[in-house]
Amino acid sequence: MNKDQELIDEFVRVSEYPDVIVIFVGDITWSGHEPSMKWVPLVALSPDTPPHKVQQQAASVIQRKRYFAVCKECSQRNPVGWMSSVTLCQSCAEEQGAVF
Ligand SMILES: [Zn+2]
Repeated sequence: MNKDQELIDEFVRVSEYPDVIVIFVGDITWSGHEPSMKWVPLVALSPDTPPHKVQQQAASVIQRKRYFAVCKECSQRNPVGWMSSVTLCQSCAEEQGAVF
């Protein structure tokens, strides 16, 4: 399983309601040192949307820069809440001594 699929599994949820299908993204916020994740509704689809289209939409959520960013050092995509800066993930930042 690749990293992007892991992100989708962990941070994207699809909920089907009688009249709408909603795709949620897990938005990570920090209060002190404790991360908390809030599910934010992002995409609303018609309930007759074919399942593969729903999956496509769900997969495209991790392309959204508001919620996910690609580290310039290791090229891994991460939730924005886990990035040390806009372009650097936390593990790369730690390797570099987190000097800014
Ligand atoms: Zn990195």
